[in-house]
Amino acid sequence: MKRTALFPGSFDPFTKGHEDIVLRGLELFDEIIIGIGFNSQKNTRYFEVNFMVEKIQETFKDYPQVKVIVFAELTASLAKKYKANFLLRGLRNTTDFEYENTISQVNRVINTNLETVFLITSPKYAYISSTIIREVHKYQGDVSKFLPYKL
Ligand code: ADP
Repeated sequence: MKRTALFPGSFDPFTKGHEDIVLRGLELFDEIIIGIGFNSQKNTRYFEVNFMVEKIQETFKDYPQVKVIVFAELTASLAKKYKANFLLRGLRNTTDFEYENTISQVNRVINTNLETVFLITSPKYAYISSTIIREVHKYQGDVSKFLPYKL
C-alpha cells in the first residue's frame, strides 16, 4: 500500500527547517502532501498563500512525489480526503511537544487511522521559525539564509 503523509502547517514562510522535514520524510513515505492551512475569511498571512505555493513547488521541482495544496478544513478530514494515513510534523523543543502532543491525540480520535509521525529537527535548523523570519523580513533584514528559495 502506498504510504502517503500529509505535512500540514501555516508555512508563513516555508523554511529550510520545513524543507529538511520533507526531505527526511521522503525516506519514510512514498508521497508527501504539503498542506498550507489558509482561511481566506480571516487572512492574517504575511506572505501571500499563492506565492508560497509557487515557492514550495519550485523547491521540490525534482520530487514528483511531493505535492502542495491549500486547505481550510480539519486536518484529520483533509488527510482522509487525500488517503493519507500519516501526519508529518517537526519537533524543535518542548513547546512544540506540548502543542503537538494534544493535537495528535485529538486527530487520532477524529480519524482513527491517522498516525502522527514526528521528526526531531536537525540541530542546524532548530533555531529557525517562521515567526522570526517574518520579524527579520519586516525590518528589511536578510532572510535568504533561512529559506530554500529566493524571495
Ligand atoms: P503551524 O502553523 O502548524 O505551527 P508551521 O508552519 O509553523 O505550522 O510549522 C509546521 C511544522 O513544521 C510544525 O510541525 C513545526 O513544528 C515544524 N517546524 C517548524 N520549523 C521547524 C524547524 N526549524 N525544524 C523542524 N521542524 C520545524
